[in-house]
Amino acid sequence: MLVDKYQRRINYLRISVTDKCNLRCRYCMPETGVEIKSHDGILRWEELLRMVQAFKDEGVDRVRITGGEPLVRKGLLSFIQDMNMLGFEEISLTTNGILLKKMAGELKESGISRINISLDSLDKEKYAWITRGGDIRKVFQGIDAAFQAGLEPVKLNVVVVKGFNDDEVMDLALLAKNQPLHVRFIELMPIGAGSIWGADSFVSTKETKKQIERLGSLVPAEIIGNGPAEKWRIDGFQGTVGFISAISQHICDRCNRVRLTADGRIYPCLHGTNYVSCFNALRNGDSQENIKRLIRQVMEIKPREHQLGSQGRMMNTIGG
Ligand code: SAM
Ligand code: SF4
Repeated sequence: MLVDKYQRRINYLRISVTDKCNLRCRYCMPETGVEIKSHDGILRWEELLRMVQAFKDEGVDRVRITGGEPLVRKGLLSFIQDMNMLGFEEISLTTNGILLKKMAGELKESGISRINISLDSLDKEKYAWITRGGDIRKVFQGIDAAFQAGLEPVKLNVVVVKGFNDDEVMDLALLAKNQPLHVRFIELMPIGAGSIWGADSFVSTKETKKQIERLGSLVPAEIIGNGPAEKWRIDGFQGTVGFISAISQHICDRCNRVRLTADGRIYPCLHGTNYVSCFNALRNGDSQENIKRLIRQVMEIKPREHQLGSQGRMMNTIGG
C-alpha cells in the first residue's frame, strides 16, 4: 500500500499518455511554439504498462487516462485492454471529445468505465475561440456517443473564465436537467498557459455557485470522498452539478493521487515541480522491483499541501 509522509493513502493514478493535442485551449497551451516530446522521448506502451503494473502491485486501484488529448495517441485502445487485464477497480478517461464519436464504443469495450468531457461554452464561436479552432458539433456528437456506449456517468468539465463564460454558467448547469449529465465547474488554475491569465480572469466557486443557486437549492449529492469535486443535486434535475475549487479551498488533506507523464515522470502534486523520473529505469530494462522503489520514493516528496509554483509547466504534459 502507498502511504505518504502525512498518512494519506495513495490509490489513484492519473496518466498523461501524450502531451500532443488536437486543440489549443487558451488556458492550457500556447498557440505556437509548444515543444512536443519526440517519439523516443516518451514511454512506449509496454513501458507504460510496466509502470501501471507496478502501481497496481503497490495498491493503486483506480486509474484515469488523460493528456494532452489521449484519443490522438495511436495504440491507446490496446493499451487500455492490456491495462484492463490487470484488474483495476476502475479505468476512466478525460477527453476534449473531438474524436469521441468514432471511439466511444471501442473505449467502452476496451475497459473504460466512465468518461469526462471538457466543454467550456455552448456557443459555437466562443468554443472555437477558447479552443483555437475546435468544432463544437463534434463535442456534442461525442457526448451522445458516450451515452450510447454506456460510458456513464458522463461528466462535463467546465473551466470558468471571467468575461468568457461566466455568463453561461446557468445554461451549462441546465444541461444536467434533462439528461443524467454531471456538470463540474473548475476554477481556472495559474498553470501552463493559464498562468498568463491574471486574477481578472478568475471566478471562484463561491461566485459560480451563487449563480447556479438561482436554478434551485443545492442539496449535497454525496459525502465528500477523496476526489477534489463537491457534488450537488438540484430538484428536478436528472444529473448533478459539481465544483472543483483547487484555488479557493485547500483540498490537499484528502489528496489520494499521483500523476505520471508520458515521459515517465511521477509528479506527487499537480502544482509542484518535484518529481521522480522512471524513464531511464524503464528504457534500461531495470527490474520491476526497482520501478516500485522509485514509486515509493514519490511518497517521501509528496507535499502536505500545494504551493502555486508550477507556472512553467504546461497542463498538457501533466493532464490536469
Ligand atoms: N485534452 C483533455 C481535455 O481537455 O479534457 C485532457 C487533458 S486536459 C489538460 C484535462 C483538464 O484540465 C481539462 O478539463 C481542462 O479543461 C483542464 N485544464 C487545462 N488547463 C487548465 C487551467 N489552467 N485551469 C484549470 N483547468 C485546466
Ligand atoms: Fe488540449 Fe485538453 Fe489542453 Fe484543451 S485542455 S489544449 S483539449 S490538453
